[in-house]
Amino acid sequence: MWGHILREQIWKAMKFPCCWIFKQYLIKNEDRITCKGLCKQCNALITVVISWPVDKIAHCACNVMNLNTLFIHVADKKIKLSPAKRVEMSDELKNKSAITYRNQLANQLMNADDNEPPHMPTVGCLRQIKFEKKTKFIL
Ligand SMILES: [Zn+2]
Repeated sequence: MWGHILREQIWKAMKFPCCWIFKQYLIKNEDRITCKGLCKQCNALITVVISWPVDKIAHCACNVMNLNTLFIHVADKKIKLSPAKRVEMSDELKNKSAITYRNQLANQLMNADDNEPPHMPTVGCLRQIKFEKKTKFIL
C-alpha cells in the first residue's frame, strides 16, 4: 500500500527514473516512515525517510547510493498500480478519455523538461481501467 505513495514522494523530491522496489519498512510513529528500496533495473539503492509534520505536508528525505547516471531505464517495465490507485483512477476516468487524464497527470507530476515518472500509468493501462469500470457498471 505504501509503495505508490512512496514512489510519488520520491519522484517529487528527486525526479529519478528508477522503479523502486521497497523491501524494508520501518514505521516508528504514524508520522514517520523509513524504508529501503532497490531499483531492479540499475541496482541503485535508496533510503527514504518520510515524515508528516503538523502542517500535514509530507517531507521526503532520500539518500541514493550506487546510482549510475548513464544507465537508461526501460519505460515499459512499469510498476503495477495498487488496487486502491486503480479505483481512484477509474473514478477519474468516468468522464474523460484515457489520454486526457494522462495529460492531466503529466501536468501534475512533471515540469517541461522532466523524464516521465516511472509510476505514471501508460495510456493502454488507463484504457483498460476505464474499460473494466464500464463493464462492471453494465454488469
Ligand atoms: Zn534505476
